[in-house]
Amino acid sequence: MKKRDSYRKYSFFTDIRGIKNAIGEMRGWGYPNQPKLNTNYKRSPDDPVLNEDWFINTIKEKIANHPGNNMEFPFHGEKIFAEPLIGFIRGNDPVFQEYKSIIGPHHFSPEEIMKWQAENNNVPAPKAEDLSVVSFIMPIARTTKDDNATMKEWPSERWAQTRLLGEIFSQTFVREIVTELMDRGILAISPDVTPMFNKKRYPEVGWASPWSHRHMAYAAGLGSFGMNDFFITEKGCAHRMGSFVVNLKLEPNRKRPDDIHAYCLQYQGEKCLQCAKRCPVDAITAEKAHDKEACYQRVAKSLLYCNKNYHIFIYGCGLCATGVPCESEIPKQLQKNAV
Ligand code: SF4
Ligand code: SF4
Repeated sequence: MKKRDSYRKYSFFTDIRGIKNAIGEMRGWGYPNQPKLNTNYKRSPDDPVLNEDWFINTIKEKIANHPGNNMEFPFHGEKIFAEPLIGFIRGNDPVFQEYKSIIGPHHFSPEEIMKWQAENNNVPAPKAEDLSVVSFIMPIARTTKDDNATMKEWPSERWAQTRLLGEIFSQTFVREIVTELMDRGILAISPDVTPMFNKKRYPEVGWASPWSHRHMAYAAGLGSFGMNDFFITEKGCAHRMGSFVVNLKLEPNRKRPDDIHAYCLQYQGEKCLQCAKRCPVDAITAEKAHDKEACYQRVAKSLLYCNKNYHIFIYGCGLCATGVPCESEIPKQLQKNAV
C-alpha cells in the first residue's frame, strides 16, 4: 500500500476528508470561504460568452478531464462518473414557490440564497428574474453500479468511495465554476457548501435540507422521482447530482414532466417494486412507498460497515438504485413518456 493510502487505516480518526465531508453535509460547517465578487471586472473581447453552451461544455469538460473524477486505491485509474446531463431553470419559475409548500418554507428560493451572497459582497440583491439555477446529473460508472448490484446488505467498496470522493469532486468543480464566475463579476453560489446549509428532521418531510438538488433536477426537466425517492433520468437513477445559482438569464433546455413519477414503473401502473426487493430493511412498500426514517437508520449504520471494511469515513447504501430497471435508463416501457 502506498503511503498516501495510509489514511485508510483507523478511518474513524484518520479519514479527515470523510469526517469533514460528513460534518459539512449535516451542518454546513468547514467549507472553504466563499469566493469574493470582483466588482472591478472589465469584460475583454477574448472572454467567453457565459451562455447555456458554456455551462454545458464546462461541466462536461470537468467530468471528462478533472483529476478529482478518479477513484482511489484499490481502484486507481477508474473514473467515478460518466458523461453528465445538464439543465437550467429560471430564477422566477413558479416552481420555487410551490417548493415552499411541497418541501417546506425552509427551502431556499434562488432569490433568497443569492441575497445572502449579495450581502456578503455588499452589492444589491439581484431580482429572481435575473437568476438561473444550473442543475446537473453525474451517472455513476458502470463498474461501480455492477458492483453494488451484487450486494445484498451493504454498499460495495466502489459505491462507498463514490459517495465520498464523488461528493468532494462535485463540490470542488462547482466551486471552481462559481469562483470563475465571481472573478468575472457575476454573482454565483452553490448553496450546499455554505454555512446556510444544514440538514434537519422536519415534522412533515422527515430529514431534509434547505436546498434539494433532486428538486432542482426535477424543475430543470432532468427526470422524475421513483418509489425509492431516487431520481430517474434518461441515464437512470444511479448517479450523484448537484446544482448552483448564477446571476445570468439561462434558457431552460428541457421540458419538465407534469407527473413527478412519470418514469417509475410502479407509479405508472406497471408492476415492479424491484427496488423494494433490493432493500435490506423493507423501507420501500407498495402502500407507503419510501419510508425515509427506516432508510435513514439503515444508511446511518452503514458508516460502521464502511469504516470496518473499506476504511473510509462515509455512509451510503444505494442498493435500491442498482440492479433495478431504472438503474441506468428510464424503464423501456416508459420511454415513450419521456418529454
Ligand atoms: S425499481 Fe421499479 S418501482 Fe422501483 S423506482 Fe425503479 S421503476 Fe420504480
Ligand atoms: S437506500 Fe438502502 S435502506 Fe434506503 S431504501 Fe434504498 S435499499 Fe433501502
